Amino acid sequence: MKFIDIHTHNLSNQNDIFEIENCFPNTTEFKNSFSIGIHPWYISKEKIEEELSFIDKQLQLDNCFSLGECGLDKLTEVDFELQIDVFKKQVTLSEKHKKPLIIHCVKSFQEIIQLKKELKPKQPWIIHGFNKNTQVALSLINNGIFLSFGKSLLLSEKTQDTFSKIPLDKIFFETDDNEINIKDVYQKAAMIKDLKTEKLKEIIHQNFNSIFIK
Ligand SMILES: [Zn+2]
Repeated sequence: MKFIDIHTHNLSNQNDIFEIENCFPNTTEFKNSFSIGIHPWYISKEKIEEELSFIDKQLQLDNCFSLGECGLDKLTEVDFELQIDVFKKQVTLSEKHKKPLIIHCVKSFQEIIQLKKELKPKQPWIIHGFNKNTQVALSLINNGIFLSFGKSLLLSEKTQDTFSKIPLDKIFFETDDNEINIKDVYQKAAMIKDLKTEKLKEIIHQNFNSIFIK
């Protein structure tokens, strides 16, 4: 059974890893399993419509598994209202193509929860690179949002503590743009949950099938 990495910027090209390559609107080749979205850091007002229609097109491909990463970030200079506007438009595309959303979220968890309540999407939402405390994790999970863990699970005691306290049917793993091995993330996670790695892989496969394969 393969390790599933739902969000990577660097393909490992190993046979025992299934990975979703994060692509941007300037990507030209889509050979692998991929996701595509407008990242909040890279919103440029003049290009939004053109990029959205490009994404709309790529989402039709069978090897496109998700829209993302997209999201909200209070630490970037891009106008926050504009970020919300572009995020909502991507939610619409995610719903149209019935593909889940991979979300980049910095200091905007309440806004994401509010938007979910307001827009009532049918597609699952996944916060990637999660590294916050248990309270934030549970408030997201209680609003039907999934969490994906990566580097921080290897390094941060806070993230490890959070991970120990959340249900296994709400999680995914990823490497993002970090020089880490997805297998180490699984191993750490299995240790924290006192599971065999094989069992954890099975659980992630179930999560993956219920969300990404419909
Ligand atoms: Zn990323």
